[in-house]
Amino acid sequence: MKIKTQVCIVGAGPSGLILAHILYQAGIEAVVLEKNNREQILNRVRAGIIDQNTIDVLKAIGFSDAFKKQGVIHEGFNLVFDNQCHRIDVNELTGGRNVALHPQQEIVKDFLTHRESLNLPLIYNVQNITISNYETSPTITFNSGDEDYIMNADFVIGCDGYHGVCRPTIPKDKRPELHKDYPFSWLGILCESPRVSEELVYASHTSGFALISSRTPEIQRMYLQCPKHTNLDDWDDEKIWHELELRTTNDSGIKLVRGKIIKKDIVSMRSFVCERMRAGKLFLVGDAAHIVPPSAAKGLNLAVSDVCLLSKAIEHYYQNNSSQLLDRYETDALKRFWRGEEFSNFATRLFHQPVDGNSFHIRQQSSALRYMINSKSAARSFAENYSGIPQEFYSYT
Ligand SMILES: Cc1cc2nc3c(=O)[nH]c(=O)nc-3n(C[C@H](O)[C@H](O)[C@H](O)COP(=O)(O)OP(=O)(O)OC[C@H]3O[C@@H](n4cnc5c(N)ncnc54)[C@H](O)[C@@H]3O)c2cc1C
Repeated sequence: MKIKTQVCIVGAGPSGLILAHILYQAGIEAVVLEKNNREQILNRVRAGIIDQNTIDVLKAIGFSDAFKKQGVIHEGFNLVFDNQCHRIDVNELTGGRNVALHPQQEIVKDFLTHRESLNLPLIYNVQNITISNYETSPTITFNSGDEDYIMNADFVIGCDGYHGVCRPTIPKDKRPELHKDYPFSWLGILCESPRVSEELVYASHTSGFALISSRTPEIQRMYLQCPKHTNLDDWDDEKIWHELELRTTNDSGIKLVRGKIIKKDIVSMRSFVCERMRAGKLFLVGDAAHIVPPSAAKGLNLAVSDVCLLSKAIEHYYQNNSSQLLDRYETDALKRFWRGEEFSNFATRLFHQPVDGNSFHIRQQSSALRYMINSKSAARSFAENYSGIPQEFYSYT
């Protein structure tokens, strides 16, 4: 089957679906290609926290009601160390900015359902994608089920995550990539137990980092710092609960309640950026171009930031027959990425135990944590980054 469209979007994760929606609102055609089926993408448990910039975007593009239904505003978070709990009042420190608990799979579900209700093109179970002529006039071939497709598009947008096909389409010698690996991972659980804190609890303990987060009043998401290459079989439920309790014990009323663990996974901690986010008519967005460790809850927010820049640039192209904004997409997106990356790395170092038990690092870390709770300036800087640096900061001029 032959298809012609303006924009081919590879990947129906948050980047792909939000981009497709904004383009639809601007009257620009897009076809979304997704390698998995609907069920699989709706069951992918990942981000939980979105920042003020992403909250504002969701509201501005017509998803206020969906946000109100699923999103819970958090005006601050709890920081536990030396078994004491300190609340960081993000709202007060930033003059009214917040984060929100809004599970990624709910965002994906909202945009997917909306796209389906409008009968807009999205092809599932796509395999064997090839992209040719992407410098000038892209052709995309793929198959889905028994059907072979050839698509011509003005642009191809890689929203296909870290393991996708779009980034590797650009020859290796033409895409500078930078990596940073962390010497530990996270062990994540989903469990059936009551919510014990309205806001997130970040705990820095001599045994390692722990995070108490939530999905619903009945389902909680928690994480533990664990050795890299951890085998889940070495962590039975008793060991997980013991470590979570040990690391999060504190002097406030926040106390874990054990429950049934319904999912366990290992999350690797790494930073990655491909500094080539554009090759002719092929653009990379979100995790396809960059990854941050989840310590500061920034990955999805950085993806949405890319989507905003690129959608504006594509709109400008069609309205004015000008590639002026497309030409600056990579530079502007990388500026925002590096702020998020630096902050994610900072939060990772601040909260996690060094695996070599390096005393110098540990003393510095304790000092930085004490500084954050005793100095409004230090706390404000953290809160400003955590709630999302206002986009005007990166103004086009
Ligand atoms: C444990 C964990 C916790 C996190 N917590 C947070 C948080 O609290 N806040 C935050 O902001 N971020 C968080 N993140 C990061 C966030 O989940 C990602 O940054 C986000 O998923 C990026 O979205 P994306 O659409 O760019 O990529 P993805 O979500 O990876 O979506 C890519 C899509 O492309 C599809 N695809 C892949 N290959 C192909 C192909 N060949 N053809 C077609 N389709 C393809 C995939 O199936 C998928 O649907 C967390 C991540 C993890 C792992």
